[in-house]
Amino acid sequence: MMAALLLRRDKKSTAAHLKSDLNRTDNSSGVRQLQELLDSVLNPEKPPADTEALDWCKCLIAGEEGFEEFCKTVRSYDNATLCGLVWTANFVAYRCRTCGISPCMSLCAECFNNGDHTGHDFNMFRSQAGGACDCGDSNVMRETGFCRRHRLRTGENVPSVPRDLLLMSEMVLPRFIICIIQYLRDGYTEPDTSAERDLQKVLQQLEPQITFLEELTKMGGAMRTVLTKILTNQQTFKDLSMGQEENVFAKKNYENYLSALKNSGLVSVEEKAQTGAAEPTRGSETGEDQDGQSIGQRKRVKLSSSTKDPSIMDSLKHKCFLEELLFWTIKYEFPQKMVTFLLNMLPDQDYKITFTKTFVQHYAFIMKTLMKSQESDTMSNRIVHISVQLFSNEDLARHVTEECQLLDIMVTVLLYMMESCLIKSELQDEENSRHVVVNCSEALLKNNTYWPLVSDFINILSHQSVAKKFLEDHSLLMLWMSFVSFFQGMNLNKRELSEHVEFESQTYYAAFAAELEACAQPMWGLLTHCKVKETQEYTKTVVRYCLETLQIWFDAIGFVDELAPNQVTFHLPLHRYYAMFLSKAVKCQGLDLESLLPDQEMLMRIMVHPLQIQASLSEIHSNMWVRNGLQIKGQAMTYVQSHFCNSMIDPDIFLLQVYTTFFKVISTLGIDRFKVVDLLTMASVHQNTALDGEQERPMLEGALTFLVILSSLRIHLGMADDEILRAEMVSQLCMNDRTHSSLLDLIPENPNPKSGIVPGSCSFEEMLSAVADFKAPVFELGGSMQQGMYTPKAEVWEKEFDPIMVILRTVYRRDVQSAMDRYSAFLKQSGMHTTGNPWPPYKERTPLHPCYKGLDRLLHCKTLHIVIFTLLYKIWLDHSNMSEHVLCMVLYLIELGLDNQEPCIEEHCHDSWFPGTNLLSNLHHVINYVRVRVPETAPEVKREREPPASTSAEASNFGQAQVFSLVAERRRKFQEIINRSSTEASQAVRPKSSSTRWVPPGTPPQLVTEILEIHESMLSLLIKLHQKLSAKQNSLSATWLEDMDANPNRHAHGDGITAIERILTKAATRSHQSKRSIQEICGKVFPPVAPKKNSPTAKKTMDKEERRQRARERQQKLLAEFASRQKSFMETAMDVESPDTEAAMDLGASEVKESEVLYDCVICGQSGPSTEDRPTGLVVLLQASSVLGHRCKSDEAKKLPTTDEERIYPADTCGAAHDVRLALMQSFFKDSSCLQSVSIGWDGGVYVQTCGHTLHIDCHKSYMESLRNDQVMQGFSVDKGEFTCPLCRQFANSVLPCRPGRSTEVVSWHMPSNKKTSVLVKEVEDLQEQLGFFPVSTTTESNLSKEMELVIKDIKNTTQRKYMDYGKNPGSPDNDFLFMYSVARTNLELELVHRGGNLCSGGASGAAKRSCLNQLFHVLAMHMRLYSIDSAYNPWTRLTQVPCVVPYSCLDDERPDVPMLFRDCPSLLIIFVLTMPQPLRKEHFICLVRMLYNLQYTQALAALSAKFSPEERQAWSTSGTLKKLSSSVWSPQSIEYSLQQFCLPYLRLSCLLQHHLYGDNLSGCPEEEEFSGLAGCLGLLDPAPQPSNPMYSASCLDWTVSAFDLMSQWCSEVTGLADTQTLLVQDLQWASPHLLHLPDNYNTIFQYYHKKACTACKKVPKDPALCLVCGTFVCLKGLCCKQHGICECVWHSQHCGAATGIFLLINASVIIIIRGHRFCLWGSVYLDAHGEEDRDLRRGKPLFLCVERYRVLEQQWVSHTFDHINKRWGPHYNGL
Ligand SMILES: [Zn+2]
Ligand SMILES: [Zn+2]
Ligand SMILES: [Zn+2]
Ligand SMILES: [Zn+2]
Ligand SMILES: [Zn+2]
Ligand SMILES: [Zn+2]
Ligand SMILES: [Zn+2]
Ligand SMILES: [Zn+2]
Repeated sequence: MMAALLLRRDKKSTAAHLKSDLNRTDNSSGVRQLQELLDSVLNPEKPPADTEALDWCKCLIAGEEGFEEFCKTVRSYDNATLCGLVWTANFVAYRCRTCGISPCMSLCAECFNNGDHTGHDFNMFRSQAGGACDCGDSNVMRETGFCRRHRLRTGENVPSVPRDLLLMSEMVLPRFIICIIQYLRDGYTEPDTSAERDLQKVLQQLEPQITFLEELTKMGGAMRTVLTKILTNQQTFKDLSMGQEENVFAKKNYENYLSALKNSGLVSVEEKAQTGAAEPTRGSETGEDQDGQSIGQRKRVKLSSSTKDPSIMDSLKHKCFLEELLFWTIKYEFPQKMVTFLLNMLPDQDYKITFTKTFVQHYAFIMKTLMKSQESDTMSNRIVHISVQLFSNEDLARHVTEECQLLDIMVTVLLYMMESCLIKSELQDEENSRHVVVNCSEALLKNNTYWPLVSDFINILSHQSVAKKFLEDHSLLMLWMSFVSFFQGMNLNKRELSEHVEFESQTYYAAFAAELEACAQPMWGLLTHCKVKETQEYTKTVVRYCLETLQIWFDAIGFVDELAPNQVTFHLPLHRYYAMFLSKAVKCQGLDLESLLPDQEMLMRIMVHPLQIQASLSEIHSNMWVRNGLQIKGQAMTYVQSHFCNSMIDPDIFLLQVYTTFFKVISTLGIDRFKVVDLLTMASVHQNTALDGEQERPMLEGALTFLVILSSLRIHLGMADDEILRAEMVSQLCMNDRTHSSLLDLIPENPNPKSGIVPGSCSFEEMLSAVADFKAPVFELGGSMQQGMYTPKAEVWEKEFDPIMVILRTVYRRDVQSAMDRYSAFLKQSGMHTTGNPWPPYKERTPLHPCYKGLDRLLHCKTLHIVIFTLLYKIWLDHSNMSEHVLCMVLYLIELGLDNQEPCIEEHCHDSWFPGTNLLSNLHHVINYVRVRVPETAPEVKREREPPASTSAEASNFGQAQVFSLVAERRRKFQEIINRSSTEASQAVRPKSSSTRWVPPGTPPQLVTEILEIHESMLSLLIKLHQKLSAKQNSLSATWLEDMDANPNRHAHGDGITAIERILTKAATRSHQSKRSIQEICGKVFPPVAPKKNSPTAKKTMDKEERRQRARERQQKLLAEFASRQKSFMETAMDVESPDTEAAMDLGASEVKESEVLYDCVICGQSGPSTEDRPTGLVVLLQASSVLGHRCKSDEAKKLPTTDEERIYPADTCGAAHDVRLALMQSFFKDSSCLQSVSIGWDGGVYVQTCGHTLHIDCHKSYMESLRNDQVMQGFSVDKGEFTCPLCRQFANSVLPCRPGRSTEVVSWHMPSNKKTSVLVKEVEDLQEQLGFFPVSTTTESNLSKEMELVIKDIKNTTQRKYMDYGKNPGSPDNDFLFMYSVARTNLELELVHRGGNLCSGGASGAAKRSCLNQLFHVLAMHMRLYSIDSAYNPWTRLTQVPCVVPYSCLDDERPDVPMLFRDCPSLLIIFVLTMPQPLRKEHFICLVRMLYNLQYTQALAALSAKFSPEERQAWSTSGTLKKLSSSVWSPQSIEYSLQQFCLPYLRLSCLLQHHLYGDNLSGCPEEEEFSGLAGCLGLLDPAPQPSNPMYSASCLDWTVSAFDLMSQWCSEVTGLADTQTLLVQDLQWASPHLLHLPDNYNTIFQYYHKKACTACKKVPKDPALCLVCGTFVCLKGLCCKQHGICECVWHSQHCGAATGIFLLINASVIIIIRGHRFCLWGSVYLDAHGEEDRDLRRGKPLFLCVERYRVLEQQWVSHTFDHINKRWGPHYNGL
């Protein structure tokens, strides 16, 4: 066989041979050969893992040149003008709103950076579902935004493809693709079959093949054209799909494929066969019960009958490879590689169209697969990844809408999907309801599985042309309305009356999300296309279908006129569709409101459910729904929350307003729904059948607030979009200062998402700058970091603060209070209202749109006036359950009525309280008698008993007596409208009077009718209330009105008195009659009214209010006090000097001089001395620190590298330099000697700090015990000895015992002495001799010494072993010794750093007392005494004497001691101090300092001469004096300067030590005089400096032996040691520690590091992090870099910062701090233009370095205060 022959040959030459055959004119033999070859190579029976076939394909396609070369060639013919780069989840992409046409537009980083978007509104984002770059696609984005490459690139300048280049591809690829398809067919089994194959496994095996396909697409346009041709060619598919004639395997595959196809339709094949016959059963998953099935059937019939084209429901048929490939892609649940392949092809226009059609064709099948999927989340993302690319393009979307019925398919599929989870609605008529709703507890809703389909639908509706099609298609609209009605009334709440619900259902999340996404979003999409007159017809159609569907709904739930009690659903999407289209019609399309309204009965019904929601809101807030659990409050809050309010409460209120425009009965209806009718009686006592006593007041407040909102809200009644935005913004800002992003989030996006309310648009910014001031982030040095905030401008508070809008938009009740508090604060500050609490200001309203003029009738309605009158009366008389809020709302209603005048209409009301409807004329109308029904026991009854008893029948004849029965009126009105009569109803509500007089206990008392004498008008009541509020008789004089007119403006802000005055003035100016009436009433002298005492309940509420106020004040005071106390603790801890306390401390100190030092125990509160038996200790925090080690020579911080070229070299740090020095010494000298010649602890030294509080050590132990038993996790680990100071709550982990003793001792040791230096030197020597004879803690081990050893143990455990073992024998006493004295060094050096690197700022002795260094030295000294120093090599001898023997010669087997000139003087000083008997006399200390200065100075000279050139050295040694030095570089001044600089660190340290040991003041001095200042302080120099002689350094020397001899001796030690000269020249001065210098723009960091590979694991980490101390790049949380169970970040923190780490999380822009086993989120040092953090880069706006924040971070690092300032620590379990 030919193929066999070919197979044996080399692939490359075969390819070349075949290619030349095929290029001949007669290519038949070539074709045959190729086919045969492919037959045997591409055998689907071979396992796909065998890549031989793949290799063959590659070779055949490439021909003689290699595959790589071939790729390059093909790519050179790429004529694509689009980028089309496809990315998957988590990719970083950009979006520019300025350039985008579709909101879904996105760009890859490369295209974004190569385009010009300066000044645009763009952001970076992390792709959730994956996406593709739109650069070059002018359908999706404006051309100005294209990058350079895709702007210039046109297909024209690319040469056309040579014919033979892709010839082989055209022939081979079809075979390759069918081969893949056959694998896919073979791999698939129906899920129910027993031999279940793992789909994932099949895909894994196919990975190389699919990757190959993907590679092909990346070759550019030329190859894509070939692929498109193959994928869409119907003939090829026909030829190959069935497989070759006798291939059994292929046949079997094909069968498999056919059976998979069979169930791809919405209607299965079996069902289809039965259509028309008996109702098909839905199979077992529909639900077992009868109901479920019947619902399914009912809907099924409806669905199939309403779908225009039944083919939508059919199973699929395929005509080309593309179709089958997509089919399998879906079946296999969208494998990522396949998705990428399919998307990579999209830049090919032909492919794009065919693919979109194919996608649409498979849409129903996608939904079916999605619903069955186990991982619907992943699948959803993949679906959207594809569909967004297709449907964002308007041309394409319109094309498939026209040709493939995209809209029908989508709506049908959505309907079908929801059908699977319908249940019977229980709303209204539980038994007979025929309505079905979605079941919110089903997975479909709970998991939001429907979202990809809904989001596609919303996406295509955003295209005008598509939306038009939708709005023009009536049957589609009808279908859509039936879809919406599935959500109407879902998630019904039934009020629990007896017991608390056992289980709080959380279904409401699903319900609210579903209404918003599936109903409201498409609605807003449609509404954007109904903005002009020309679109009137659309609106009319939608309104018509809304009403029809609503009618069907009312019928289905069996609603007539009365609501079922105790039910509420928040979901009325049909109502809201109706409302919003209505609003749009009037506002934008010039339609007349009345033409769109249904008949009265229908309008009445439509209003009922929204009203019920308003009443329920009030009930929920009045705790009437407590038994339903917290979730009901959640619903009430979600309903008004910013993302929902536009789609829920606003349309509801609007509907009620529309209704009110035509029927003012709403006021009575409303009051009835709020169940407060019974409360509205003039009688002092009443019964309420519906409410408990404590619910009456909140419900009444709720009802009145509702009426105010109803009559004053203008959102849909005349406000322009800009005004709405402004009002929304003002109300949010009034509640609280807001960050830019939170404000954006809080402003509802609708009604007009494209009008500029959308995030980032300039109209939002303009509006914001008009109403708010920006407060830049400020810093509090206590840690709390603030963000940039917007706060209302003063004139906004003055003129625009609208409490009604605030109430409407308030999610948390406390926000209303917050707004009022802020408002009062503003008034106080601006001096507008200074006494008492101001009332919510009244705000004038935007005029009503003419269509809604009728709304004002609500305010001019007798019923409302009766309510107002009654309430005024009751408030005046202090009846129970009245409140300030009630009065406030009543006054608001009156004022609204006065401001919105209406012509008076004579109303034929059944009673005659008032003559007309006009509020202004009713104000002065006097009511004389009122008839009330009261319980027999009421006070009225006794009073009224005196006149002859009257029956109710007689009462109507009784003069002017007026009956007030709202219930009766409501019934009457309602019935008028719906033409029904039921006179019984009103009686049914009230208990009829019965003949029995006996009242059983517990039942309400009998009611009797009484006549009350009133003789008041609203005006007179108002004036009386004024008196009452001002607590003054005749508070309004007869002439006050005249005074008023002079200054009408001063009434805008104030309390209730002001409000009443304002109303009276308004009434007077608008009506002469009112004016006369007011003057008359004011002129009268009122009898003293003191009704206050009558009602204890009212008093109680007032008291309560007052008490609450007082409590609040008290609390605030307490908080302030606490804050100041905490601040002072903080100051102590951080050693902040404050002169006042300093003086006080000194005074205190001098007073106790004579006695023992006393310590207060913060646990038991006792105060006493620290004793051997019962020691007291300081609360301390021990912490290892590498801050010193990270210091550099340069004062400039190192720059963080942001390119591959930049690097950070760690060698020049202090830590590294000391390590090198010690290692060098150790290689030449005796180890034990080396270990006494340096200090360690630059890296990993232990820093000790205290809050200054002391406690008994035994008290501390019991305190720790109690902490251990405390179950509450406190964020610290008690087992590790951690605790917080019982007093100041500062974090601590050890207790440092205080030395017992008298402070007088200290004083005596201070005494200055006049002894000669040589005497002192001898004394010191003698004292050192005693070293071994100090058995302090060996004989009797006291509690104190035990504690001291314990704290030493703590200190050792604080740092890691490697920071303690520098010697050759780990753990040897020498090592230990070095570590111990280095602890002292570390603490002194750190204090120097905290003081700014020098001692120029000075410091009083108080600071030393508050520091714990003295106590620390004591403890260290006690411990050091355990060691003995080899006295033969006591450095003191070598420091003060010229030895007679040279010790080196006799020690030839050992290395020599470290020469004196290489020894570190500060270390020697500390060693001497700590090893000598304590306490050390000051004279001896000074002696030590002097002798060591001699050495230090000699070292300085040696170092200096080492720096000289040989000539300079020569000159110096011959002339012998500095002055004669004739060098251009070295002047006498510069030599003196460098000597001083060399000695300064030693002087600083000595001085600081002296300060701590003896409490001496540090005197401040200018920096250039530091040397003389310090020398004076140490007594090395005469305190008074001689200005004539600036050469101090030498005059400080003080020799006891011949200076020349001693110096020669020291020098002789080093001569001959050639390799150690570098030890002479030391780096003693270090700059203050700095964190890395960061770039200004965060993007610089992000772009470099987010895709940088880790140096350890060579992978790009998922969570990259950066050490800000050293710049190391680590894998946060990555298992890849985990070692010994510790993740890289924690590991690095241990090695870089001795367990302290500061890391920048690249992907979050946030900094985390690691401290030991804990970590905390510190916040971000990068802020956006609005001063806000952007954690996790969610908004993706450009971020800039906030220098202040970074400084604070650095300061906390240097001062070791992370533990104290950051509060939220958690354990990291080594997992970071
Ligand atoms: Zn791109
Ligand atoms: Zn581009
Ligand atoms: Zn742009
Ligand atoms: Zn105590
Ligand atoms: Zn404390
Ligand atoms: Zn580091
Ligand atoms: Zn790593
Ligand atoms: Zn790693």
